[in-house]
Amino acid sequence: MGRIIGPACKQCRREGEKLFLKGARCESPKCALVRKNYAPGMHGSKGSFGQKSEYSKQLREKQKAKRIFGIGEKQFRNYYNTASTKTGVTGEIFLGILELRMDNAVYRAGFASSRKQAREIVTHGLLKVNGKRVKTPSYSLKVGAVIEPTPRAKQSVLFTELSKKKDSSPNWIKVDLKAPSFEIVNLPDKKDLQQNIDAQMIVELYSK
Ligand code: SF4
Repeated sequence: MGRIIGPACKQCRREGEKLFLKGARCESPKCALVRKNYAPGMHGSKGSFGQKSEYSKQLREKQKAKRIFGIGEKQFRNYYNTASTKTGVTGEIFLGILELRMDNAVYRAGFASSRKQAREIVTHGLLKVNGKRVKTPSYSLKVGAVIEPTPRAKQSVLFTELSKKKDSSPNWIKVDLKAPSFEIVNLPDKKDLQQNIDAQMIVELYSK
């Protein structure tokens, strides 16, 4: 499945806001958006982040969401198609599906400093779901799923350092930083969804 590649900071500059794609650097003065707060490219510093027509706003919102979650167009569209067949508010169901991706949950649980790092942790086969190794970042987690490092990965600094961290996970994830492991205890609630995405705009764009 496709994923977004290319310089992460340029993606933030294109969207005109922090997408937090690089972990600790995003909180530091080294953040590219702090130093160059304009769109990338030759004319970036001259123009604005121009959002003119309704369509261009919707398009930018979709691009931003794809960049935040690091997902390519085809897979993103498939998630929308799945959400649109379910009963309820399509935008919220859509974001809920994205939240339950394995790489996102690993990031939300605090096991990685960015979704990109979470993706690497998963693809390198360092984690098990309910006792079985899972290497697919898009793997959809269900309520009751318990995620923990493989016995070998548990010895790595990536996981031994977790016990020093503070738990800042959302309500739908129960984290044990000492073990370390985490469990999906609920479906993500509306307030747990990625807050800087207007899912309704994406729904309007796709339903044209
Ligand atoms: Fe975006 Fe982080 Fe780069 Fe800042 S440091 S521009 S938030 S990826």
